[in-house]
Amino acid sequence: MKLARRVEALPPYLFAEISKKIAARRAQGVDIVTFGIGDPDLPTPPHILAALHRAADEPENHRYPESEGLPELRQAIADWYERRFETHFDPQKETLPLIGSKEGIAHVALCFIDPGDLALVPDPGYPVYEIGTMFAGGESYRLDCTRGSGWLPDLEAIPADVAERAKVLWLNYPNNPTGAVAPLEFFEHAVAWAKRHDVAILHDNPYCDVAYDGYKPVSIFQVPGARDVAVEFNSWSKIYNMTGWRIGMVVGNAQMIDALMRVKSNVDSGIPQAIQRMAIEAVYGPQDCVDEHNRVYQRRRDRMVATLRKIGLEVDPPKASLYVWAKLPAGVTSADYAARLIDDIGVVVTPGRGYGVNGEGYVRLSVTTADDRLEEGLRRLETWQGI
Ligand SMILES: *Cc1c(COP(=O)(O)O)cnc(C)c1O
Repeated sequence: MKLARRVEALPPYLFAEISKKIAARRAQGVDIVTFGIGDPDLPTPPHILAALHRAADEPENHRYPESEGLPELRQAIADWYERRFETHFDPQKETLPLIGSKEGIAHVALCFIDPGDLALVPDPGYPVYEIGTMFAGGESYRLDCTRGSGWLPDLEAIPADVAERAKVLWLNYPNNPTGAVAPLEFFEHAVAWAKRHDVAILHDNPYCDVAYDGYKPVSIFQVPGARDVAVEFNSWSKIYNMTGWRIGMVVGNAQMIDALMRVKSNVDSGIPQAIQRMAIEAVYGPQDCVDEHNRVYQRRRDRMVATLRKIGLEVDPPKASLYVWAKLPAGVTSADYAARLIDDIGVVVTPGRGYGVNGEGYVRLSVTTADDRLEEGLRRLETWQGI
């Protein structure tokens, strides 16, 4: 059997070593506390689940959905954006539901990238931007993001020939894995830069309502004229604890949305309608769950930051996202540090190197660990005779 080059070219799964270690320790009976995964531990709110239960009984929801989603869902997406960001989108032309935003993030490369084309991706960053590009036959040019520049790329530092060749620019604030946020001025600059170089902006914004200390993340569509060059991916996953249901969205430039819809209608057959009903309920139902979740995460963030500082790591407390990004002592690699934590105290963190070369020297901890497990993990860290 000969597999395609794109499969052979998939980078070795950096977390494979860690997964193997965890499995081995568990087999030895070790109790593992994990801060590894950004996946809300709290359940989907009951009123959203009730919408699923009702919809599951309706035979009309047992059949193929339309690829482009229920008109009511597209209206709900436009209404949600209007309520949250005071933006106006045409539900039919400027919104599109996705099977989780990850699905759209991977497939959108097929709309822009021909073999040899270039995508600009942040380093560190969510790996799907680069992998989707590779699947489409393109190449990624990594934009260095570092703590010194608040984990924002310097667009003016992109060489002219790279800007000339680039088809898309990926951005993601609030950011995974760093927890960094970007001010509106950054997006203003990015939109102007993209227009100057005829590059499409793909902004990934799944943490726009996972924020702390009263901070309100922005949308790229708060920049006038952003719609000429941009789409924004978003998701119910992190905001409403709906990761398991797989439903997301993209809004913005009509031509880009249409291209993605045409690609997707040849790949999938839409989102199960009962799940679309959940998303509609999430939009129009009570919203207090959002603040409630954020209060829980903020408390965990504060506990985590205090412990990490106590054991000698540098941390900038995140204003948004589900992640605490901690700087390791000089000279230790993130993979070694993560391996030591598993071996010594059965605690799992994510090595920053898995998100790019600029992630080296950092580890990511997620605040989606249940309170009692979080306390147990922090207790182990505090008593660790570590590095
Ligand atoms: C969680 C996450 C997503 C994917 O969310 P889904 O809608 O559940 O697919 C996309 N981008 C980033 C940066 C994420 O952290």
